[in-house]
Amino acid sequence: MVRVRFAPSPTGPLHIGGVRTALYNYLFARQQGGKMILRIEDTDQTRFVPGAEQYIIEAFQWLGIEFDEGVHEGGPYGPYRQSDRKALYRQYADQLLEGGWAYYAFDRPEALDAKRKEYEAEKKTFQYDCTTRQQMDNSLVLPAEEVQRRIESGEPYVLRFKFPENTDITVHDLIRGDVTMNSRLLDDKVLFKSDGMPTYHLANIVDDHLMEITHVIRGEEWLPSAPLHVMLYEAFGWQAPQFAHLPLLLKPEGNGKLSKRDGDRLGFPVFPLEWHDPKSGEVSSGYREQGYLPQAVVNMLALLGWNPGKREGGNGANPVFQEMMTMEELIRLFSIEHISKNGARFNLDKARWFQHEYFQQLGDVQVAEMLGAQVREHGIEADAEYVARVAGMMKERITFPSELWDTCCYFFQAPTEYNEKDVAKRWQPGMPEHMRRIVEILDTVPFEYDALHKAILEDYIKAGGLNTGAIMNSLRLAVVGRTVGPDMLTLILMLGKEETIGRVERAVEKIGEGSERE
Ligand code: GLU
Repeated sequence: MVRVRFAPSPTGPLHIGGVRTALYNYLFARQQGGKMILRIEDTDQTRFVPGAEQYIIEAFQWLGIEFDEGVHEGGPYGPYRQSDRKALYRQYADQLLEGGWAYYAFDRPEALDAKRKEYEAEKKTFQYDCTTRQQMDNSLVLPAEEVQRRIESGEPYVLRFKFPENTDITVHDLIRGDVTMNSRLLDDKVLFKSDGMPTYHLANIVDDHLMEITHVIRGEEWLPSAPLHVMLYEAFGWQAPQFAHLPLLLKPEGNGKLSKRDGDRLGFPVFPLEWHDPKSGEVSSGYREQGYLPQAVVNMLALLGWNPGKREGGNGANPVFQEMMTMEELIRLFSIEHISKNGARFNLDKARWFQHEYFQQLGDVQVAEMLGAQVREHGIEADAEYVARVAGMMKERITFPSELWDTCCYFFQAPTEYNEKDVAKRWQPGMPEHMRRIVEILDTVPFEYDALHKAILEDYIKAGGLNTGAIMNSLRLAVVGRTVGPDMLTLILMLGKEETIGRVERAVEKIGEGSERE
């Protein structure tokens, strides 16, 4: 039975890189008929941020990523918050001590700092490891009675992992293959502190074991810790889970990890939901608040570092991937083998493209409701059927719900001003006279498409040798206030005769001959 977990530390809002990690775990679990677990790793109390855990839960609810067990759901392997599991870690630390896999270290922060400076002065970096630990203040060098005395007198200590000397350690990674590191290059990491708290490394391994995790799918930034984790499993005599380290999410330019600063700089969120930092009060934007649909965010993230393999029609050099995938399809198509080793560049255009596509898939009724709400917010009472017609007609131009009002407002209110640039370009001398003639036509010809088309475009413009673009764009300017919008005659028919005539007359009055224009 596959059991995977997403194990965030509640140190702030969840980065979309973390969301992608959770998504891949979820897709894998669902596909394999396994279980998905949410474990909160809050052993580092100094980095705890109030509200972060709730934020994480809310973000996954919004995205439709569901957990079978976790802080929220409960389950047979709980508790799922490490601070609630504090009491159970000590025995495992003791087990490592007894097996000679860990040792007491008493080095004070000042002493460690001094050591680091000493190394820096020689342009070296200090690491507490199998070559330096003999010079430090720990139970490997102190007499046993001295160690005992210090512990009993309450002197603070930490327990460090004791890496074997000069040993190659291999991590079997499902994405990267075998990754080998020599223990000389590895830190004797702190596992436990005298305040009774384990560090991430110990708690993570103990919990993955106790929760019977079969696959650890996590970000590449944890790869350097993986040899320690592999050794911890060995030290405990436990079977290690399988590891898969996911490629980094990169800046759009491709150089370096995608950060919050990139989002601010380029105008896209790096968090699923808006986040109000409780300390600084700073607000970071979220996909949800920007109007992204959760399906779009999920689909976009799924393809940042994975693809479903090539589809018919593609070839080795130019593979064609299916891009639009529902959660069900993602679950069906997901495979660890198709996860890339290389970092995945974030692409804002692609994010918007997905959003546009998913917006188009919304039901007309839903879009009509969104538009209706915005119309009411502007203090306008409009007929529901009319709103629905406008929504249906304009939907293809919309990417974000917030664009609805701006894109459709002229269906509900006459323009009060006319875009200056459009006026300068389109409202040529003599235009008021043309507009007056069009008003006459609108007033006298049967108010339906074919008749208006014939009367305005053929009999008046074409037969009169006039420029279609100039006249129709000016008419649009008069009716809409700018020169964008749907087919002009369709628009006129929707607005109705009186409304259209009123708008054209007002434009003639307001813009006039336009002779004052430069
Ligand atoms: N708590 C770690 C984090 O915040 C989890 C790493 C892991 O998945 O092992 O990313």
